[in-house]
Amino acid sequence: MISSNAERTAHFVFDGCDTVDLARIYGTPLYVMSETMIRSRLREIRESFLERHPNTFAVYASKAFQTLEICKIVESEGIGLDVVSGGELYAAKRADFPMDRIFFHGNSKTPAELEMAVDFGVGRVVVDNLDELRILDGLARSRGRRVPIIFRLTPGVDSHTHEYVSTGRLDSKFGIPLDPKVRDAYVGAALAMKGVELKGFHFHVGSQILVRDSHLKALEIVLGFMGEVKRDYGFEASDLNLGGGFGVHYTEQDAPEPIAHFTDAMVAAVDSGCSRLGLARPRLIIEPGRWIVAEAGITLYTIGSVKEIPGIKTYVGVDGGMPDNPRPALYGARYEALIANKADAAPAGTYTIAGKCCETGDILIRDIALPAPEAGDIVAVSTTGAYNHSMASNYNRLPRPAVVMTAAGRHRLSVRRESFEDLIARELG
Ligand SMILES: *Cc1c(COP(=O)(O)O)cnc(C)c1O
Repeated sequence: MISSNAERTAHFVFDGCDTVDLARIYGTPLYVMSETMIRSRLREIRESFLERHPNTFAVYASKAFQTLEICKIVESEGIGLDVVSGGELYAAKRADFPMDRIFFHGNSKTPAELEMAVDFGVGRVVVDNLDELRILDGLARSRGRRVPIIFRLTPGVDSHTHEYVSTGRLDSKFGIPLDPKVRDAYVGAALAMKGVELKGFHFHVGSQILVRDSHLKALEIVLGFMGEVKRDYGFEASDLNLGGGFGVHYTEQDAPEPIAHFTDAMVAAVDSGCSRLGLARPRLIIEPGRWIVAEAGITLYTIGSVKEIPGIKTYVGVDGGMPDNPRPALYGARYEALIANKADAAPAGTYTIAGKCCETGDILIRDIALPAPEAGDIVAVSTTGAYNHSMASNYNRLPRPAVVMTAAGRHRLSVRRESFEDLIARELG
């Protein structure tokens, strides 16, 4: 698989593991997730947010990367879980995740999903619309239960990120628009319902955000809303969920901040806003996804072909692509990569790394400097820990890659590779 020439050059080591060995042992394409880095991010949340500020909580937005094993890791670090579907909730339950530490999100939850949430006893349902509110109230009452909810608000703030991951603007499919009519329709209705117990509010401005002003702007707007709700209804929120969206390093153009850069400023703004408005300071919750897992993941591929189009470019074809990483095709996401078995070799030119799907848009990385690539070389793409495995498809009937977990030089299979048999297992004809 690897030429003898390449064997003599340095290999890329990730979390103490030789990535060329990982590719040989587990095959490619391969997701490699560092438990070391995931735990270090979870501990940073604990130390710089939960332990520094009283009355705080953090949940991991598990849609970024959810396996049974990560649910257990998150649980063991004292963090909660944010789920957005019956499937994510089911997996959390199967991982024995404590249900009272779960926040259940979604803009179009089905009645069946809401029933699951009520029966499992999730900690909070984050209610997005009136239809959901009515269904939830009915389900809870029919069981003699009262379900704790928070409302997802749309603060009308434009975060400076890609349109497809910007969620807090007024024109968004997510959340409840902030205007006086809404106060009555939602807050008034919820406070009168016997099946739900309103605990507070939530906002989430978007994803891969590297500056804190959109979070702070949204926070001011939501605090103002909380002041009006207190004035009109005498209701004081005991929960305020500040969302996630904290950015990570994908390429050299991204300069991510430590989580405290966001959370310290938000806690200070809440403290001063609450005393200005005469509100009791609610429990503050954050729900990062990407920030916890993105940089903890890499994807390994084997190069199948190197094709030069004279005067135009050289395509490097790999054995995966948009089915294991749809983000470049979906929102023009940019990544960095290296050749794992030529880790110390100087760049020989600029190349375009192409996936193997029948789509011209299946390009993983355009115009990246690499040492001379050859068929059989191992490519490592960095920062693929978030929204890769969880967004993977079987387009072109490509089996989804295995997930290997590393921990300081040790490695283990966490999710097995899909087989061809798996691909047809649901077909009845
Ligand atoms: C996706 C999402 C998150 C996590 O976003 P990241 O950018 O991965 O941190 C948090 N909250 C809500 C409501 C979300 O939809």
